[in-house]
Amino acid sequence: MAREIIHFIGGRTLDHGARQGDVFNPNTGQVQARVQFGMAATVDAAVEAAAKAFPAWAATNPQRRARVMFAFKALVEKNMDELAHMLSSEHGKVIADSKGDIQRGLEVIEFACGVPHLLKGEYTEGAGPGIDVYSMRQPLGVVAGITPFNFPAMIPMWMFGVAIACGNTFVLKPSEKDPSTPMRLAELMMEAGAPEGVLNVVHGDKEVVDAILDHEAIKAVSFVGSSDIAQYVYARGTANGKRVQAMGGAKNHGIVLPDADFDQVTKDLVGSAFGSAGERCMALPVAVAVGKGTAEALIERILPEIERMKVGISTDPEAAYGPVVSAAHRAKIESYIQMGVDEGATLLADGRGYRLQGYEEGFFIGPTLFDHVKPSMKSYREEIFGPVLQIVRAETFEEAAALPSDHQYGNGVAIFTRNGRAAREFAAKVQVGMVGINVPIPVPVAYHSFGGWKRSAFGDVNQHGPEGVRFYTKIKTVTARWPEGDVGDQAFVIPTMG
Ligand code: NAD
Repeated sequence: MAREIIHFIGGRTLDHGARQGDVFNPNTGQVQARVQFGMAATVDAAVEAAAKAFPAWAATNPQRRARVMFAFKALVEKNMDELAHMLSSEHGKVIADSKGDIQRGLEVIEFACGVPHLLKGEYTEGAGPGIDVYSMRQPLGVVAGITPFNFPAMIPMWMFGVAIACGNTFVLKPSEKDPSTPMRLAELMMEAGAPEGVLNVVHGDKEVVDAILDHEAIKAVSFVGSSDIAQYVYARGTANGKRVQAMGGAKNHGIVLPDADFDQVTKDLVGSAFGSAGERCMALPVAVAVGKGTAEALIERILPEIERMKVGISTDPEAAYGPVVSAAHRAKIESYIQMGVDEGATLLADGRGYRLQGYEEGFFIGPTLFDHVKPSMKSYREEIFGPVLQIVRAETFEEAAALPSDHQYGNGVAIFTRNGRAAREFAAKVQVGMVGINVPIPVPVAYHSFGGWKRSAFGDVNQHGPEGVRFYTKIKTVTARWPEGDVGDQAFVIPTMG
């Protein structure tokens, strides 16, 4: 019988909910576990545990909370191999990528270790006669995170790391496709010294998400996933009076100017388009080749790289990337490849029908390359989220620079050039939230903040870094007067600063 993954509430695993979902091993295509889907009552139980834990956790001084984060970081590092294998076996990304997923999450935990510094308020002495004004940042209470399948370690850590260090208690609803790693992280948080109820995990689908969005006691919801659902989460959560940040899909462009170092750009494009089977929201699935000869120069370099590329099981150290997450997702990617063909783009490498010997049932798909992709094509306008690189040709810098700005998504973008002036102008004007200059995957470091524009993010506040601290705290401002002697009639007069 398949292993069963159940909820983690109040420091204990909890069996709750009649429905279950399959958790596949994408390498073999076999069901390796079943995950229980919670109900509204499961969310109630998690919120109750979190609410019970909140007063004491919020009152714990910030450096003690930070100590739990330090201990958690050490435990995750100690268990890195086990976690990476667990993650790879459910997601399909290769072990090195899984370690990267965990490592990028740990960088946010490192940031969270320093949160006390960012929780300090401001102070004005003598704002009026005998009057001092000071502000303090306080945690919100019970907050929740809903995460996608593609970074099952990093994205939960973006959220609960900052929220918990700020003094909140947390309910996590991880992706039902790869739920084991977030579960293990919650156990490690307890082992690190987080009190029961500070971090709870409820598994499930829309039913649990809706219960989170409607629960009166949940003060804020952080979401990462596809855009339509992000928009839905934002609308329903804010209508219920919650603070919501909801990150959505992406279609990131790599603009290649004729003066770029084509050998380096080829490495960057191939790594960022095909790495992790293209299942990264900061991948570069579109290369914009600017000027005469640029597309040809790229294609003659990229095609041999594709021929050499090894697609293998996630534990194969020589594999560039592994299978995609599910059979349904592979079918969706393959349908976009067909759409590109039907729309008239030139298919230079076709990854459809890729079968790996001994793993014929695995969800593999080979690297795919299109040339002559046009901005009017649906296969360009929409997110594919697979190992597909689309080359768009542009005659001028202006034409190329307008493409990411005009696109519905605005997560990341990169420009490859030796021309500092062009890069500077591009970075200043482009309508995209995260920009790389000769950097293919410009994910900001943990002490900066992560977030896209347009349909890539709903809400005003980004993830982690200083923005994350703002998201998970509220400001209170105190105006204090300590009169000398008897207050007398002054007690009834509105204080003025004059
Ligand atoms: P998804 O939108 O299918 O799922 C995300 C979460 O929403 C999951 O926890 C899922 O259970 C839940 N969910 C699914 N359907 C729902 C529904 N109808 N109502 C309510 N909740 C629902 O996304 P995914 O396939 O897991 O992840 C891939 C997507 O996430 C891609 O679009 C990718 O670009 C995006 N992503 C964005 C970022 C970013 O920071 N912008 C980062 C990583 C991934």
